[in-house]
Amino acid sequence: MTERYDISLNTPAGQLTSAVEVPTGFVPVSAIVPMMRRLGEEAQALEERRSIEAGHAISCKKGCAACCRMLVPVSAPEAFALRDHVQTLPETEQTRLAQRFAVTRTALLARGLWNDLIEMGESTNPPDDDALEPINRAYYALRLPCAFLDQDVCTIYEHRPAACRELLVTSPAEWCQDPVAHPVDALPVPVRIGPALSLLWGELTEQPPKLIPLATALDWAARHEQENRPRWQGTHILDRALDKVWRFLSQAFQQK
Ligand code: SF4
Repeated sequence: MTERYDISLNTPAGQLTSAVEVPTGFVPVSAIVPMMRRLGEEAQALEERRSIEAGHAISCKKGCAACCRMLVPVSAPEAFALRDHVQTLPETEQTRLAQRFAVTRTALLARGLWNDLIEMGESTNPPDDDALEPINRAYYALRLPCAFLDQDVCTIYEHRPAACRELLVTSPAEWCQDPVAHPVDALPVPVRIGPALSLLWGELTEQPPKLIPLATALDWAARHEQENRPRWQGTHILDRALDKVWRFLSQAFQQK
């Protein structure tokens, strides 16, 4: 059973009102992922509208996969939700995906990056932006396509992580091929849903928040499977999730 809640949030790009369906029973934290992604997208849509009204069109289009070669961080609830989704795919697709993830792992091992990424997902003290920068650069230098990418199309488009949805640029699409040489003009992100989910997971499970590189996320979710077994009342998860969203929104207002 679910209960409907009307949510109203004040974002730097305007008022967001949304209706969400929340399970009334006890669910794992990953159950909140679809709702949080939708909230993030609705907040982002306000930013898009504001940018277009100011004459800055969004360059990102379906089929452009330049940013699908970057290091994508996901929260623990997203890693569990992704694994759950992959397990619903036909066996042939699961096998294809496993092969692509194995190719990614081999490439990262060969460049000495795999263990850094595993460590990032396991660390009780996640790296800050400065510590992440050299790993981000080394990863992007490989131009390694995301394992979910097939012929430059995201095979999990409806289930892709929040970080993939949040990177929208107004600079020319070609610049994304080499953002080191051409820093891109990215749209502001009012609420970073991945970090918000990470904080939520940290609070509920009494663990440090974690950000897990997407290339290692399915392995991580398998290793940590038992951590997605605890259940909380849906309304309690929603309450704590909105607390994190408000925290990000108040930071966004302070930075204006
Ligand atoms: S999950 Fe999809 S959108 Fe995100 S990096 Fe991979 S292929 Fe691209």
